[in-house]
Amino acid sequence: MQSIYNIGSRFWYMTPVSETDRPILGMVVGEDRILMIDAGNSESHALIFLEMLTEKGISNPDFVLLTHWHWDHIFGLSALGDAFSISSEQTKDEIKKLLPLSWSDEALNQRVAEGTEIEFCSSAIKKEFQEHRDIKITLPLLTFEDKIEMDLGGVTCILQQVGGDHAADSVVVYVKEEKILFLADCIYADIFSPKWNFTVDGTRGLLDKLETFDAETYILSHGKPISREEFRNEANMLRTIADLTEKYEGNMARISSEYEKQAGRVLTEDEIETVEYFVNGYEMNYGNKG
Ligand SMILES: [Zn+2]
Repeated sequence: MQSIYNIGSRFWYMTPVSETDRPILGMVVGEDRILMIDAGNSESHALIFLEMLTEKGISNPDFVLLTHWHWDHIFGLSALGDAFSISSEQTKDEIKKLLPLSWSDEALNQRVAEGTEIEFCSSAIKKEFQEHRDIKITLPLLTFEDKIEMDLGGVTCILQQVGGDHAADSVVVYVKEEKILFLADCIYADIFSPKWNFTVDGTRGLLDKLETFDAETYILSHGKPISREEFRNEANMLRTIADLTEKYEGNMARISSEYEKQAGRVLTEDEIETVEYFVNGYEMNYGNKG
């Protein structure tokens, strides 16, 4: 069951659904114009958000931004024909590659078998589209490089491509007056390589960009809004593990024991997983030195 909440007076979001991989959808409501953040993983995902907002007296969006090309953020775009769609140039290029693909069970299974699709997405697509797999991939109308700023009337949004390991085309939305940074999936690992991974350089480059925004609330699309302090803790963990990965050349045991020594406690499950992803990233770039 999805719910909608507001943060401040200009921003609404709908909670995610992990089973079908529905991400959080956002809506920035200006005095003159409305910007939707991400189109959802299906038309029904996009439309339920609009319906719930209509009940709160909020009109349909004038613009919709796609944060990156992954299916769960773009398959709903065909339901948003009245909105002007926007993405980075790179996102549009990646979506173009999806246009010729079939999304039947057979086609998905075949792509998973040959390694061009991952089981995680294939199974979520099958769960989201159980009856009608009427997927109509739509390309965004307007594309940009680096960043653009939108004045929606009383509220300004900066749409900036930040990249990162999860998707090189990742764009974040900074809602200036509300000090909200919509991160989408950008700080997650790369899930499209044979082994899920973080890289040292990718992580540092991304965090350097994210830390230039003065935000109080951060939104992770498959999680929940987090505070500035929680974001700082997450960023510190990623930086520390990146440093140790470099120092110990991807040696899992040495990275873990040094991190435990610094923290003065055993690693949490999340930290263990993060170390594994960094080790995978190191091996991907430099080979297995363990
Ligand atoms: Zn993603």
